[in-house]
Amino acid sequence: MNVLEHWIGGLSTPSIDGGTRTGVAPATGGEGATVTQGTPADVDRAVLAAHAARHGWRHIASMERGRILGRVATGIRNAIDELTELEVADTGKPIELARAEIQGAADYFEFYAALVHLPAGDVLDVRPDLHVYTLREPLGVIGVITPWNLPINQAARACAPALAAGNTVVAKPAETTSQTTIALARIASEAGLPDGVFNVVLGRGAVVGTAIVEHPLVRKVAFTGSVPTGQQIGRIAADRILPLTLELGGKSANIVFADADLAFAATEAARAFATNAGQVCSSGTRLLVQRGIEEEFTTLVVEATQAYRPGETLGPMITRSQFETVQEYFEVAAAEGAVLRTGGSVSTDPSLKGGFFVEPTVYSGVDNRMRIAREEVFGPVLVVIPFDTEEEAIALANDSDFGLVGGVFSADISRAFRVAEAFEAGQVYINSWSTQSVQMPFGGHKASGYGREKGIEALAHYSHLKSVSVRITPGRWAR
Ligand code: NAD
Repeated sequence: MNVLEHWIGGLSTPSIDGGTRTGVAPATGGEGATVTQGTPADVDRAVLAAHAARHGWRHIASMERGRILGRVATGIRNAIDELTELEVADTGKPIELARAEIQGAADYFEFYAALVHLPAGDVLDVRPDLHVYTLREPLGVIGVITPWNLPINQAARACAPALAAGNTVVAKPAETTSQTTIALARIASEAGLPDGVFNVVLGRGAVVGTAIVEHPLVRKVAFTGSVPTGQQIGRIAADRILPLTLELGGKSANIVFADADLAFAATEAARAFATNAGQVCSSGTRLLVQRGIEEEFTTLVVEATQAYRPGETLGPMITRSQFETVQEYFEVAAAEGAVLRTGGSVSTDPSLKGGFFVEPTVYSGVDNRMRIAREEVFGPVLVVIPFDTEEEAIALANDSDFGLVGGVFSADISRAFRVAEAFEAGQVYINSWSTQSVQMPFGGHKASGYGREKGIEALAHYSHLKSVSVRITPGRWAR
């Protein structure tokens, strides 16, 4: 039996106590990958390897650091067929979607490879007898903990800027989707990343994840996942004064005004909630539609939703527990009186039997106070909520515990700008949904988390800023 092992110090490494876990293939319900299960002792080995490697990596010439990270990007692109196969096996998602995510992972390394050449600080004009400058310095060992929805992409999103800023990494992928993060570490080693700079420990969150957050040599944790886990990590971090980036959940609103290009907006509204079967933190799962076009637009969205066919263009729920959670929300919505417009059940296609497939689902007649409008389902489930005025739309959009993304569709560009400004959300899209890119900083307001990934700004979250003041003897001409 092939057992997927940790990647520590540049080598595939078994667990100290040798436990394994065999997963479930979400597309079929059959047997998935068998993965070694780490313990705090494995985390300790990985952190010590990362700690030992940190000076060497930090002091490598930036030109060389950039070249290595650039080769990681090339390595990812060259291995796209292998990585796609692994990602599809772990997640069941459509091949084209997996390929796009892997290209995105390569983009992260390409982008941050170039950013190693940014100035490492500023010179400050203070006094003639002082030379004052700032210096960006790496933090040391970074713990990177990621979820199962976009496995290699989320790992690359945090690891690329962390490495570019001169840190070393101990990553922990979700226990159900570990294969591509291990492949990424191997590709990085093959690209010339020195041993110990990028380590991966596999296993359960409560064991391996907790051990990473608690390890005294870990100097920052970048966490992507659910709110309850983010809160648990935050409690440990508070005791350790450990900096965190928390990328958590969302219940993002998409506002459609009557003057919008309705046909295009409907296609985008369907894409917003059905991409990756809704297992995306930035899914647009609350559709706020202006009264007057509500019925016409809901019909258009339901039609556009037919493009997402389970087993073809719509993947399964990636874990059994998520499959069960989505079915529970079908019951919640029914009990709350939401009007089912399409979907609302698991897929009945006999060829998909055993897989964790659900139908893309749209509810209308929803009130923003209902649970189905407030809680993150993390599945392909959309609620349609009507509004009358711009003010009401903004109030409804912001009446949420979350604040990750907002969307607004309108032909009135002044109004679209006003709404974009009023959104309590880290990123807003006008007349499109989720045209994200590596250049755009990404992160949340409220329960969606804090800190920023992506963009130049992420580098600040993976470095200290040191100020240095040097007293100099003024020249005679300065007296
Ligand atoms: P999760 O919180 O259950 O798990 C995320 C990771 O944390 C996994 O690797 C898990 O093993 C680990 N973990 C679990 N318990 C832990 C603990 N006590 N200590 C340390 N680590 C622990 O989340 P999930 O169900 O895998 O992912 C879905 C969630 O992730 C959704 O809420 C989604 O919105 C969110 N998400 C957010 C973003 C973003 O960028 N904001 C991106 C993707 C997913």
